[in-house]
Amino acid sequence: MVVMKFGGSSVAGAERLRAVGELVKAQIKRKPVLVLSAMGDTTDHILAAADAAIKKAFVSIEQIEELHLNTIKDLDLGEELRRGVKELFYELGSLLTGISLTGELTGRTRDYLVSFGERLSVRIAASYLAKTGLNAHAMDAWDIGFVSDSNFGQAELRNESWVRISSSIKTITASGILPVITGFIAKDEDGNITTLGRGGSDLSATMIAAACKVEEVQVWKDVDGILSADPDLVDDAQPVEKVSYEEAAELAYFGAQVLHPRAMQPCMKTGIPVLVKNTFNPLAPGTRIETIQDGKVPLIRAITSKKKVTLVDIVSTRMLGQSGFLATVFAEFSKNNVSIDMVATSEVSVSCTLDSDRDIAWIKRDLSRFADIDVRGGKAIVTIIGDVRRSSTILHEAFGVCKKRGIRVQMVSQGASKVNISFIVDDDQSPALVQALHAHFFAPVKGGAKKRTKPAAEK
Ligand code: ASP
Ligand code: MG
Repeated sequence: MVVMKFGGSSVAGAERLRAVGELVKAQIKRKPVLVLSAMGDTTDHILAAADAAIKKAFVSIEQIEELHLNTIKDLDLGEELRRGVKELFYELGSLLTGISLTGELTGRTRDYLVSFGERLSVRIAASYLAKTGLNAHAMDAWDIGFVSDSNFGQAELRNESWVRISSSIKTITASGILPVITGFIAKDEDGNITTLGRGGSDLSATMIAAACKVEEVQVWKDVDGILSADPDLVDDAQPVEKVSYEEAAELAYFGAQVLHPRAMQPCMKTGIPVLVKNTFNPLAPGTRIETIQDGKVPLIRAITSKKKVTLVDIVSTRMLGQSGFLATVFAEFSKNNVSIDMVATSEVSVSCTLDSDRDIAWIKRDLSRFADIDVRGGKAIVTIIGDVRRSSTILHEAFGVCKKRGIRVQMVSQGASKVNISFIVDDDQSPALVQALHAHFFAPVKGGAKKRTKPAAEK
């Protein structure tokens, strides 16, 4: 059995669904289980419509309705499906009207709203696949065992999902059905619809793969796999052939928007390989994520960057020789529910980084009670994923590149995961640094790297 997950741009319209059909048929003997994202930018559109509704501004879902209805028409999928889809759009429209009238939009309602995207896409795709002769059936994630907590917008799957998913998939596939399952969504114990965070259908797919211990999970995207750098930044970015789960997780977190950051976890636990492939270029080998034996790691795998980072310096002479100071500082972060990305400490100071879009007004207010605080926005984290056992070489060469470019490194950290070395620099210098590091560590590809077939990154 294999799990095949198709991202938004891989299912965005009739032509794309035909390509999905071909890819599925080519592997039909491996008993595929399908997981789909919403079509194209549907999720973004629904979120924008919700934001407009709350401001009582003009709300339009016409564009996405057209995308879905045109797809049905182009694929000639029949009246019953069309009516079902129309009904879902009617419900979505009514919800938006409700939001606009009440001026209320809770996390719970937001998740309910965006769930329409995936629910629509599996119905259309399954109907098309059935028309081509496959025994495909659309399924909502909660009907096959996806149970989450009630943390709307960022829900975590509950442990019982493992057993539930594996037993329902077993029953479904034993009866010869090809399941086409909604990614991204689940239900909490009270039956409310939840979502697993943006890009969460990767996690849905790896969860099914791990729970059912399948041969492999294929994540079909619009890029040739995980690239050595962001192709919008580095022309020469090249697909990485193999990475470990840890490296993939670091890459996902620090800017390479290829996979959902938490998507690696279920497969890492169970050792199921993840293959990242490009629907627009299926012959490209893609990237294989799996357990990698020590000693086979190249010096550098990839370079990523994450913008809009805030650097917080916490300095206190009271810290000298004191125990518990760090605990006090971190307790404040925890109380304010802010997660820290990077930390560096000395005897009298702690520096750490946070996402700039977090509310950080409390930092000065609360931390100034016991330390001098300096908060500086406009920073970026540039991360080198590589063999940290050779960190002296990496650091030596990377600092050489910084020096040559006149780029001041404001903080350095070597991840405990033993795969990343990160630098904090000014945001406006990060593109140049990524380019220079890439040029230094990677040999240019003959004739230039293959560009992405589709310009916009898939969410
Ligand atoms: N449709 C959702 C999003 O755009 C989930 C996904 O595509 O994985 O974030
Ligand atoms: Mg998407």
